[in-house]
Amino acid sequence: MRADFLPFSPPSIGEEEIEEVIDTLRSDWITTGPKVKRFEQEFANFLGAPTALAVNSATSAMRVGLATLGVGAGDEVITTPMTFCSTAHVIEHAGARPVLVDVRPDTLTIDPALVERAVTARTKALLPVHLYGHPCDMAALLDIARRHNLHILEDAAHALPARYGGRLIGSPVVTDHQLPVKTLTAFSFYATKNMTTAEGGMLTGDPDLIEQARLWALHGMSHDAYKRYSAEGSWCYEVVLPGYKCNMADIEASLGLQQLKKLPGFQTRRREIVARYHAAFGALPEVETPTEHAEVESAWQLYSLRLNLNRLTIHRAQFIEELKALNIGASVHFIPIHLHPYYANKYGYQPDDFPVAYREYMRLVSLPLHPRLSDQDVTDVIEAVTGLVEKYRKG
Ligand SMILES: *Cc1c(COP(=O)(O)O)cnc(C)c1O
Repeated sequence: MRADFLPFSPPSIGEEEIEEVIDTLRSDWITTGPKVKRFEQEFANFLGAPTALAVNSATSAMRVGLATLGVGAGDEVITTPMTFCSTAHVIEHAGARPVLVDVRPDTLTIDPALVERAVTARTKALLPVHLYGHPCDMAALLDIARRHNLHILEDAAHALPARYGGRLIGSPVVTDHQLPVKTLTAFSFYATKNMTTAEGGMLTGDPDLIEQARLWALHGMSHDAYKRYSAEGSWCYEVVLPGYKCNMADIEASLGLQQLKKLPGFQTRRREIVARYHAAFGALPEVETPTEHAEVESAWQLYSLRLNLNRLTIHRAQFIEELKALNIGASVHFIPIHLHPYYANKYGYQPDDFPVAYREYMRLVSLPLHPRLSDQDVTDVIEAVTGLVEKYRKG
């Protein structure tokens, strides 16, 4: 057993990030200004996105995204129970109704066949989640969106960088501009994500949509502070809508500029670790390894193993406790939305209403997966998991 605790997902911050933040702190501009602008441009270039808007979280990116798509009271937005709570919260914040549909058993991403059945006259948008970094079945979702005149807001908090049919998530979904389908994509730079700004997020999409989103993200003001207070600026501005306050600061963008440069290297390391986990756990009938479809490239935000509980004498919670006792940090992604009291009470959900999400949730264990894991750390995780499986396998 390893001597020290292996944290589940610490950030990978180096001297470059520290220097860049200090440079910002020594400058005369610390909030939204030149570094945010550069970060937005470099991020859009990296993905091949038309435009990008930096905000203070993916939650804000989605909130602003829904406002931009005109989602409001009386509307329905179809999403998945297998996600972080804020995916559903932003729909509530908009005054709309989150309509949950169950997930596919293989990838745990939203099941397009069930989406089709959940569409009503009130449905305004789809909010698919690229869970663990594995893109959803976007061709099927886009087909549904076109036939029913729906918009698409992608929760890509895990999907940086991920590819669907060769295209990077965040680059244009609709290339022939078949109106009225509008698409926006939200990314997260939370501390545990594939790259971080401590807190932060990005919304990508067509320039006209991002221009509108920019208003929603900063008080609905026609000029941001940099345009007002810098030498080339003017004191005059107009408020054109009751916007939120969720802009990114240059201090955060400083982290982002350096993290973005390192992202390809981070991904190479993530894939090496995934390959070792696959090789080690693929041979154990007591567990199931996560899949990656041929037409996609996962961002591998998380490595979520599934326990075959009928072959083990131990439950998931105990499994995680035992891993912890062996100094390995593990977690569960996610407790499905419909099991949380707020949603269960408001909409009267029962656990079995989304049987795939519920059944799979009961056997999920996320293992450490981040670029700072050494080869020895990976060996320690493999030995701990394998050891537990051997100890608790059924006769
Ligand atoms: C992390 C996460 C979010 C929220 O991201 P923030 O940047 O913390 O707001 C949303 N959806 C999913 C699937 C996430 O994992």
